Amino acid sequence: MKKLNHFSALNPEAVAQTVEKFGTPVYLYDEALVLERCKECVEMPQAYGLIVRYAMKANSNRTLLKLITGAGLHLDASSLNEVIRAHLADVPYEKIMLTTQEVHIGASRQTLEELLLSGLKYNVCSTHQLELIADFAVANNIEVGIRIHPGIGSGESATRNTGDDYSCFGVHLSDLPRAQKCAADKGITFKHVHVHIGSGADTKMWRQNIDLLLGIIEKHFPDAETVCFGGGLKEARMPGEYAADVPLLGSYAKMQIEDFYERTGRKLTMEIEPGTYIVANSGYAVTRLIDKKSTARSNFIITDGGMEINSRPLLYGSKHPIYIVSDDGTRIISSEFDDVKHDYEAVVAGKCCESGDCQTLDMDGHAVPRAMVEPQIGDIVVIGGVGAYCSAMAPYNYNSHQQASEVLFTTKGKLKEIRKRQTLEQILQNEV
Ligand SMILES: *Cc1c(COP(=O)(O)O)cnc(C)c1O
Repeated sequence: MKKLNHFSALNPEAVAQTVEKFGTPVYLYDEALVLERCKECVEMPQAYGLIVRYAMKANSNRTLLKLITGAGLHLDASSLNEVIRAHLADVPYEKIMLTTQEVHIGASRQTLEELLLSGLKYNVCSTHQLELIADFAVANNIEVGIRIHPGIGSGESATRNTGDDYSCFGVHLSDLPRAQKCAADKGITFKHVHVHIGSGADTKMWRQNIDLLLGIIEKHFPDAETVCFGGGLKEARMPGEYAADVPLLGSYAKMQIEDFYERTGRKLTMEIEPGTYIVANSGYAVTRLIDKKSTARSNFIITDGGMEINSRPLLYGSKHPIYIVSDDGTRIISSEFDDVKHDYEAVVAGKCCESGDCQTLDMDGHAVPRAMVEPQIGDIVVIGGVGAYCSAMAPYNYNSHQQASEVLFTTKGKLKEIRKRQTLEQILQNEV
């Protein structure tokens, strides 16, 4: 049986069955790969304790949250609603850390207080957030962590760099004295210090990130017990891309944390917050080829799942592998991973009225034809690497398309629907 790609246990029969049972477009997730990635992270080398938090904004499906936390991970939540979703997936509040741009006042403040009293962990991301929560935290003996903005960052594109001075996540080093003064005045000590420099950061930047944050802790945070290096572990979706070397990064962090202990006598627990790395390559968008056209410039194949399924190419110029599966499920050919003659080139477009609705865009938003074996109308087109920031982030109701269903390919080889396709009534239900 031919494997779908070099990452996955998925096979053409599973794809054909998915289409038959659930229709297209549909997200298909490989349970085995999610579990493998979780294991790799929780078993990475470490010095004095490790907590791996899955950044749930990457994909917040309840079944996946249960799977991932069942594998020993805790959660990083980006909003109060995410915290509530996680809890609805049976994750205890103690295992959830909220790191958010939200400022909670009024009703949401009430919710935040209730959740904090129930065990939720909270990382302030601005001096204003700290000022708002300080009295409550002190009065109720609740610890708050702090997210530092180091002024340098890294990411696969400018829009995914969260650590440089073009972004505004966390308390910037230049604002730290004000935050420290507020903390001192109120009697708050920071035991948890956090940084997240961006998505898809390269290894060199990750090492710098480790050194930088440990330096900041040594200088500014005498009470810190936990150091969180954030997420951003890179995943390789296409041939020639490189993924983070998790064991190697772990070894480096371990060495530096041990070194920190030698210097200061303080043993720090380490945290990391991978989102992408845990789920990205486990996800496939299974779509159907509904039309073929040509312009003077290039061929186009049109599928029934485009930017409303995966908007990463449009947002970031991200590249995803494309596979063609013939309608009877017998033939599966990858544009990227199969060593066959690709004698046809086409732009892979979706069905939205938006010229950027393409899966094959460059960084400037130009449609770039991809070499492939010529597919026929009715064939299945599978887009790989869509487990992270696709279902969770795509503008799925654009053109009044319905949010696609999600299916899990289990370790036992079964197909399990984990989210139903949205109905038209659901799109309309709040209109008055
Ligand atoms: C988004 C985010 C992450 C995860 O980033 P990935 O690139 O998906 O690994 C981790 N921590 C925080 C605070 C985040 O906002």
